[in-house]
Amino acid sequence: MTNTDFSLSIEDLTVSFDGFKAVDDLTLYIDKNELHVVIGPNGAGKTTVLDLICGKTKSTSGSIKFLNQELTSLSEHEIVRKGVGRKFQTPSIYENLSVFENLEVSYPEGRGVFGSLVFKRSAKVMAKIHEVAQQIMLEDEIETEAALLSHGQKQWLEIGMLLIQDPQLLMLDEPVAGMSVKEREQTAELLNKISQGRSVLVIEHDMEFVERIAHRVTVLHQGKILASGKMDEVQKDPKVIEVYLGH
Ligand code: ADP
Repeated sequence: MTNTDFSLSIEDLTVSFDGFKAVDDLTLYIDKNELHVVIGPNGAGKTTVLDLICGKTKSTSGSIKFLNQELTSLSEHEIVRKGVGRKFQTPSIYENLSVFENLEVSYPEGRGVFGSLVFKRSAKVMAKIHEVAQQIMLEDEIETEAALLSHGQKQWLEIGMLLIQDPQLLMLDEPVAGMSVKEREQTAELLNKISQGRSVLVIEHDMEFVERIAHRVTVLHQGKILASGKMDEVQKDPKVIEVYLGH
């Protein structure tokens, strides 16, 4: 496999803030169908990597290619249109709208609350909304106002709002923070399913959950990669034990 076969190819990526390198010469490849988890202590640069991929932060140097297209020169909006979706830790759902309406306004052609008022529901859109609601385990709550959902269900709804846009790369920041044990289990299954056919990049601190979901893991430390590979290999790495897992 050559580097161009990967869905996401990050090469020699660096960003400096007033001379401080938050991400330092990072090279990372993520395949299609891969669920890749980035771990590392606070301040390691995990969030900054996601910010760089989605265009929220601009790199100082290096390249980010997604499906062979360079992203570093594109705006956040253009990067979304290239098929990159990102979920932040706090869900940004419309609390006063139902699950159905939240999914509807997120559908690419009907995006925006005002858009939805004039948006004609085609059979195709209806089918997609129901398909996604089922996928995120909210089919039985489809008419429920989002405010009434549990914390975990709100997180799933936001994942659904991204899935309805069919992203080819989905990035999630601590997707199970604050969830019950059962919701974690269900989220693991959900992530496993949604990584089929696309790439998923997750930041996570909960090591049990990482073990459960990760196809490959990258450990960041001070903006650099300390180790990258399968979880069982990474866990045995003495450098990783010293700076992270041994704590
Ligand atoms: P992590 O997500 O691993 O906890 P971050 O990516 O949030 O780490 O931050 C990495 C480092 O970069 C931290 O020291 C943080 O203070 C710094 N940093 C991140 N964004 C900025 C910014 N916009 N300006 C200055 N420093 C920043």
